[in-house]
Amino acid sequence: MFTRFSLYLVALLAAAAPSSAPYKNPALPVEQRVADLLSRMTPREKAEMLGGSGWMESQPIPRLGIPAIRMADGPMGVRNWRGSSSVTNAAATTPVTATAFPAGIGMAASWDPALVAREAHAIAQEVKALGRDMILGPTVNINRVPLWGRNFEGYGEDPYLAARMAVAYIESVQAEGVIPAVKHFDANNQEYERHRIDEKIDERTLHEIYFPAFKAAVEEAHAWVVMNAYNKVNGLWCSENPYLLTDTLRKRWGFRGFVISDWGSTYSTAATINAGMDLEMPGGEPMRVWLNRPETKIDGNGAGWLTADKVLAAVSSGKVRQESVDDAVRRILRVMFTAGLFDHPHAGGGQVDTPDQRFTARIAAYESLVLLKNDGVLPLAAGTRSIAVIGPSAAVARTGGGGSSLVRPKYAVTALDGIRQAAGAHIHVGYALGEPRGEAVALARQSDVAVVVVGYSPKLESEGFDRPSMDLPAGQDELIEAVASANKNTVVVIEAGSPVAMTRWIDRVPAVLFAWYGGQEAGHAIGDVIAGLVNPSGKLPVTFPKDWKDTPAYGHYPGKNLHVDYTEGIYLGYRWYDRHGIEPLFPFGFGLSYTKFEYSGLEAPARATLSTPIQVSVKVRNTGARAGAEVVQLYLQPPPSPLDRPVKELKGFDRVVLQPGETRTVSFTLDKSAMSYYDPAVHHWVATPGRFRILVGASSRDIRVRRDFQLVK
Ligand code: BGC
Repeated sequence: MFTRFSLYLVALLAAAAPSSAPYKNPALPVEQRVADLLSRMTPREKAEMLGGSGWMESQPIPRLGIPAIRMADGPMGVRNWRGSSSVTNAAATTPVTATAFPAGIGMAASWDPALVAREAHAIAQEVKALGRDMILGPTVNINRVPLWGRNFEGYGEDPYLAARMAVAYIESVQAEGVIPAVKHFDANNQEYERHRIDEKIDERTLHEIYFPAFKAAVEEAHAWVVMNAYNKVNGLWCSENPYLLTDTLRKRWGFRGFVISDWGSTYSTAATINAGMDLEMPGGEPMRVWLNRPETKIDGNGAGWLTADKVLAAVSSGKVRQESVDDAVRRILRVMFTAGLFDHPHAGGGQVDTPDQRFTARIAAYESLVLLKNDGVLPLAAGTRSIAVIGPSAAVARTGGGGSSLVRPKYAVTALDGIRQAAGAHIHVGYALGEPRGEAVALARQSDVAVVVVGYSPKLESEGFDRPSMDLPAGQDELIEAVASANKNTVVVIEAGSPVAMTRWIDRVPAVLFAWYGGQEAGHAIGDVIAGLVNPSGKLPVTFPKDWKDTPAYGHYPGKNLHVDYTEGIYLGYRWYDRHGIEPLFPFGFGLSYTKFEYSGLEAPARATLSTPIQVSVKVRNTGARAGAEVVQLYLQPPPSPLDRPVKELKGFDRVVLQPGETRTVSFTLDKSAMSYYDPAVHHWVATPGRFRILVGASSRDIRVRRDFQLVK
């Protein structure tokens, strides 16, 4: 029975808060506003905030003026937010368009954090222009397996490179008052059984390989939101994994934002909240409809565990403490206040795809291209009169891979269009699809140069499934071979998000350009680089193996009986190839230019201590005849240590633009973190004294200058 007093209390609580309420005052500190608002919320309102209200919205509480957080997928542009991935990808009629930037792997190939920051700034502007508050990115998962369907979204195989890119993206998005969600924590490294797979990863490997990008996101960029991964890590789903969400994220790294679930990655109420997962997505009716679809059940998604009723029941039965619910709401509100959602809601109705954003997409596409081979056929010779453009990806723009990251641009430049424009009026550009092959071969034979554009598509490389092999899709190897036999000046352009097998024809073609998925301006970049209007500068953010059998996870992917053992441990990517003396097809960090660079004068102190970072400098000179950019890479070779360590690890890089003949001094700082490894016996990073070797060069296998220093206690 309600007493008069309790009825009075309910009525009081149900009333809107006065305009003088402290939480409504933008001048007050965020923590004060959060505490005030929290004190005005009923238990049900708090419980409601733990679940979404729709496909891409959190739960608003109108009585108190708490808005919904309106989300949109990313990371390489703002994706339409209506409906589930499968629904929106199938519908050609969806209205939301935005600028499509290169895929994350292409951004990583630029090795240019300033460019990533610029891209993220443009994306954040578009998020606001479209009336949204949050972009579901960046993806920072490490490329463990070349077959992973989502390799294209992330920043490659190296934790240091991925961390630099993640920090640049997050800082830039947050500076605009837009909420990023760094994803997927942790180790979402395969699509195969992504909802059920249990990954066995030892502690050191987590800390050295699969954590650093998230750690940097939290410690350096102060990321507001982290999205948990679908998979299990060491026996527990990431959404209910206290080691990940509480011990590591919050206690070790000091994360103060909230954790959002990946869409349909929850399987319990109490364990999820108690582990530190704060906001379950999606929610409401769209979630219920989706959850009941047979496909969703087959996939193994879970959702609907953090509805208000279930949360309240868990609290009344004592399985969840009210304080844990309060903590989750506090974290969500903290981010909302910090991002300005109460004070400056994003009204929408703004412009997207502005000239400036397009320009950023074009620059990004330029910097993402990696020239893998060039026996002198590129850039095109002055006397070129005709080009044959051939292949299944030539006249179709492959802006991105498939799944939740795929952006619908207003327009997209195909390789054919880009080559035509770059070639100008005096060069004839012919086109053949490549089927029937007779036509393509005839065109190649009568042209000065043949450009074969091959690769994957969003239907063949996508979220939701892995590639069956590293081979190019059916018929493409044969097409390359046929064209190469007809024209000795054959340039192969590959659009894909991961390494592809090339051994079959690589010795028979003079040039290979890797274009990833380059966003809406990719065609211009391809055309301008081929014509020599732009000098390529991208470098591989992942090792290209000769064969799938050479790769670190071979034999330990996709796992057996829903278990996969990361037996390669910390020896991932170039760490693996170095350790086992395996020659890759193209090493990590590799990429050619139309000019040449010379390295000299590596300087570093002979002795270092852990308390003072050391300064390293090296001179880089452009010895060729044209301007170009070089990605200078610093690797550190550790001394013998109590625990086995990789031969070398990337600890610094810088992209420098040099005019012909110009020399620049490039500087790096090496601190304790660069010299340390993670020791699971003490659960900490440690550095042992000894002789380190600094290796600086143009790729992980093209070290030009070296110098030793002694780390003393
Ligand atoms: C993906 C996330 C994405 C979410 C919302 C999930 O399937 O794994 O990366 O942000 O869907 O679309």
